[in-house]
Order: sequence, then structure tokens, then C-alpha cells
Amino acid sequence: MSLNKVSVDDIDVKGKRVLCRCDFNVPLKEGKITDENRLVAALPTIKKLIADGGKVILCSHLGKPKGEPKPELSLAPVAARLSELLGQEVKFAADPEAVGPNAKAAVEAMKDGEVILLENTRYRAEETKNGEAFSKDLASLCDIFVNDAFGTAHRAHCSNVGVSSLVDTAAVGYLMQKEIDFLGNAVENPVRPFVAILGGAKVADKLNVISNLLEKCDTLIIGGGMAYTFLKAQGYEIGKSLVDDTKLDYCKEMIAKADKLGKKLLLPVDSATITEFPNPIDAPVEVEMYDSDKMPADREGCDIGPKTAELFAEAVKSAKTVVWNGPMGVFENPTLAKGTIAVAKALAETDATTIIGGGDSAAAVNQLGFGDKMSHISTGGGASLEFLEGKELPGVAAATDK
Ligand code: ATP
Repeated sequence: MSLNKVSVDDIDVKGKRVLCRCDFNVPLKEGKITDENRLVAALPTIKKLIADGGKVILCSHLGKPKGEPKPELSLAPVAARLSELLGQEVKFAADPEAVGPNAKAAVEAMKDGEVILLENTRYRAEETKNGEAFSKDLASLCDIFVNDAFGTAHRAHCSNVGVSSLVDTAAVGYLMQKEIDFLGNAVENPVRPFVAILGGAKVADKLNVISNLLEKCDTLIIGGGMAYTFLKAQGYEIGKSLVDDTKLDYCKEMIAKADKLGKKLLLPVDSATITEFPNPIDAPVEVEMYDSDKMPADREGCDIGPKTAELFAEAVKSAKTVVWNGPMGVFENPTLAKGTIAVAKALAETDATTIIGGGDSAAAVNQLGFGDKMSHISTGGGASLEFLEGKELPGVAAATDK
């Protein structure tokens, strides 16, 4: 997949109608936006289009209205807040069909540098099926398309993929560009040594990620719940730890693959263990440390132990690129967050390019206070995993190549 895409810096939008697909999928409570990070993150691309004299038509999905207008999932509150953040009016085109008489009239009347926002693209049933009629409606509004919504890049919808095929130029915005530069290029063209760290609950969720990263990286580190299936595959007693017995052969295959490719595969050498899973998850727990070859049958590994934390941190020290997805233990519990914190610290202290692959991992790093120490924290959970799987992302592929 080519990752060399036309960006907003490469296009001339003066006097042109520019449709910009953003990710305004913000949490709402009683019509109020409770977290506006995604709006703030979208501003650089929008401001650039305004400054260059484009007629800026914004669109996004919000929640899952399942192809029907649902007033509680209207983008109207986003238009109001964006007006404040931009310091200029963002006119809201309140069409239940997203592209209707309001949108058409508003676009018709636009002057250079003005901004409008369309209604929730998922009010249209065609949106998530990449249906032609809605793609054509969207394309009819614009001369140029800009995609800045990485969170949906792993889906082929009208508002990212369908519309791209109907315009001359489909450029990527700054947010998309950053994800491509960091996540895409880290995996495809890493500065070496390249260390990949995987954690999280289940092996089954990340089969393709493990396999692909093993081919691309120099060292693959596996921690978290998924490590115990690997340890069991190697013949270790893992007690009551999380395991997927249907994936033991897969793990053996991966261990053999690492060996064949001459890659280092690091697994936990010790674990923080408990007897009873905490309920609620952050309830106090009594922890005992056991080496991986001495785990008693009645205990459950819920975090990497201190020896493992040191081993993993050491492996990160000499790296030039580190990609991390998935916590090292049950990080929601302070006693079982130590391994995840140790790895986050190791990443924070290295000069390597450090990339956090979305979702829970991003939340963990931010929650533990290491967010600003990372080179890049991906904003797309599903999309970033697919990048790590080495898959072609439809939303990226659809953008015009340079
Ligand atoms: P994302 O791809 O969104 O970053 P993730 O890989 O971080 O997600 P999951 O695979 O769902 O997300 O894993 C996160 C969960 O795994 C956390 O809730 C954590 O408590 C749990 N977890 C991690 N280690 C263990 C373990 N040893 N035993 C049980 N649960 C664990």
C-alpha cells in the first residue's frame, strides 16, 4: 500500500468547495459535549483550509444512529462548539438526509473562508454500506475532498471511500498524515532496532498483529493476559491465568517463526499473581511474585513481575522505534498496574520514536500520566490495529497518491 498521499499542504483550495471528513464522534450527555478532544484535534486542518480561502464543508458521523435521523445524535451541538473554538460561525445544515435542501443552499451561498457542517452522515443508511447514492450526494457538494478521520480509516464508507472515488483530488488532513507517518511508516519502514510490545487480554484478538509484527520487528515483547497462552504452549504451569487453549498451536508456530526469522521473542520470566480476581476491578489485592517456571496451580498471573519489567525495559533501551499495543496487566487496579507503568516509563525515557497503538493502551498511557512523553498516540483503536496487522486501510488507500 502506498503511504505517500496528497496532503492539505499540496492542494490549492482558494475559491473551491472543500468537503472535509472529520472525526467529530464526541461523547454527548443531554446534548452537551463531555469531551471535546476530537474537536480540538481537528482544528489545524480546518484552520488551514479557511486560511487558504476554501469554502469549507465539514462532515462526520456521531454514534450509531443506524441509518435513521436520531435527534439525540445530531451534530448541532458540535457546530455550536466549533464556532466558538474557531472564532467564526460554523453554519449547521440541518438536513435529516445529511445532503438535502439546507446543505445545498448553504453551499451555494458560501463565500471563501466560510465553514458549514453537515448533519450526521450515519443518518443515511447507505453510509456504512458505501452506497452510491450518498457518495454521489456528497461528491456533488465539493470540488476537492479532504479526509482527516483516522478512526474510520479501516472502514469503507461513503464519507471516506465512496466520495473519494468521485472527486479529482482526495487529500489527507494533518491528523491522518500524522497517523500515516508514525504508525504506517513505523511498521513498514522502521528505523532499527524496532521493538514491538504487545499486551492486553487475549491472543485471539491479535493473531494477525503478532504474526505481522514478528516479520517486521527485531524484538517482539509479549506481556499481559495473552502471554500465558504462550507460556503454556512452552510447557509452563500457568495456574488460573487467562488462557486460550485453542491457540496453543498458534503460539508454538509463532515461537518457531521467531526462531526461524532470527527474531527475539521475549515473554514474562515472572508474574504478579493473585488467588481471586478483584471485584470491583480496583479492589485491594494480595500479590505474590512467582517466576514463570514456579507458578503454583492455584494462582492467576495478572501482571508482569519486576524481573520481567526490567527485562522489557532493557530491551526498549537500545531501540530506535517502539510500537506498543495492550497493557502488561490488569492496569485498572493500582497494585496490578506496576508492569504497565514500568513499560510506560521505559518508553518515556528512551530517545526512540515511541508509538502507542490506540484504544486501551492509549487510555492507559494517558491515565498513568505518560501521554506527553510519547512521540505519537494513535487516535484510532480498530484502525491502528489494522495498520499493525499490515492490512491496507480502505480510508488511506482511497486518498490520492502523490
Ligand atoms: P486496544 O487494542 O484497544 O489498545 P487492548 O489490547 O489494550 O486494546 P484488550 O486486549 O481488551 O485491550 O486488553 C485490555 C484488558 O486486558 C484490560 O482490561 C486488562 O485488565 C486486561 N488484562 C491485561 N493483562 C491481564 C491479565 N494478565 N489477566 C487478565 N486480564 C488482563
